[in-house]
Amino acid sequence: MSVTIKDLKVINTAPEGINLTVVKLITSEPGLYGYGDATFAYRYKAVTSYLLDYLKPLLIGRDVADIQELWSLMHQNAYWRDGGVENNAIAGVDLALWDIKGKMASMPVYQLLGGAVRKGVPVYRHVDGASVEEICEQISYYRELGVRHLRVQSGGYGGGLDLKAPGSAPEGAYPGIYLNSREYIRKTVKLFEELRAKLGFEIDLVHDVHERISPAEALELARALEPYRLFFLEDPLPVNQVEYFAQLRMLTSTPLAEGELFNNEAMFRTLIVRRLIDFIRVHITQLGGITPAKKLAIFAEQFGVRTAWHGPGDMSPVGHAANIHLDLSSVNFGVQEWSGIEPPNFVIQKLNEKKGALLEVFPGMPEFRRGYVYANDKPGLGIEVNEQEALKYPNHDEVTTWTQTRGQDGALVLP
Ligand code: MG
Repeated sequence: MSVTIKDLKVINTAPEGINLTVVKLITSEPGLYGYGDATFAYRYKAVTSYLLDYLKPLLIGRDVADIQELWSLMHQNAYWRDGGVENNAIAGVDLALWDIKGKMASMPVYQLLGGAVRKGVPVYRHVDGASVEEICEQISYYRELGVRHLRVQSGGYGGGLDLKAPGSAPEGAYPGIYLNSREYIRKTVKLFEELRAKLGFEIDLVHDVHERISPAEALELARALEPYRLFFLEDPLPVNQVEYFAQLRMLTSTPLAEGELFNNEAMFRTLIVRRLIDFIRVHITQLGGITPAKKLAIFAEQFGVRTAWHGPGDMSPVGHAANIHLDLSSVNFGVQEWSGIEPPNFVIQKLNEKKGALLEVFPGMPEFRRGYVYANDKPGLGIEVNEQEALKYPNHDEVTTWTQTRGQDGALVLP
């Protein structure tokens, strides 16, 4: 007899202060349920409505075995498709279905995806400081933990201009985060020069441009960083300038990563087929979940393009677990971004005391040990949600401001 979807619940919780959204799919089989990540931190109510008002009525009574059928059904049901709200909601259901399938098979999800080609997943962590000294202090902390890849920023993504400084912005300028792209490039190149002089080349370094500069500036930066041998330069161009990757690729040897904002496999196709990038930076819930992400990973493998799934703070531990199961099973894995979730007995309190609350709400998440993250071998995604604990940390509704990035003339630029 088939096992069907009996109920769909949404758990909104912010144990670290970041709005997270998790789907719980309850099946007709007593005690059998699955969890999926549907986090879109800045539009969580829209995702919640999408799940409860539209996907739940569509899914009740359907067979949980039919993951691909249900994914396609959800994807085309509204006719207009591929938006961030829709895809994150679909991903919540998709991950929960994979979780359920693993539990039914008594296997972890990576086994269903082809089995593990590696035993642990090397991860990169973030450092960000105002000075080289501060950055080096953070790097040495992570090196002691065994981390061999680090993303280095200084002052976020180059914003934070002093609006009161003469000539820094027009009179009456709008509020926002003002970016001086020329200064950002000069400072970034100098930073990496100093880091390599101090640290040598043993450690792998990543830098995220966050799409904030012009294509010509992206080329200038990528070329200027060549002597410092980055592991990759992330999102040097925005979605609407991807054609420029052809020039970038021809003119620089700096490895390129792109795509956390892409929400459809087709957006990666030309970049992969023409081998214009080295890493796909997919935010798997923005793409629609494990189902499309696994297909894209296999497609990229054929062209020598590697995965570096997006693993930021505004993703629930269920989403991080899904990343790890994909990493374990993908031949063309590159590196995994890991936003700082260690077991509470770790020394992590030094940098972030809120992680304890996150682990209480999400017991069983993959564990970081000496530079690698390991999935546990429980069936499914291997992660639980303490729903009572989750209630202690309600989501919040302030207007999002960090996306108001502006150029020096005061007009908005992509964040
Ligand atoms: Mg990024």
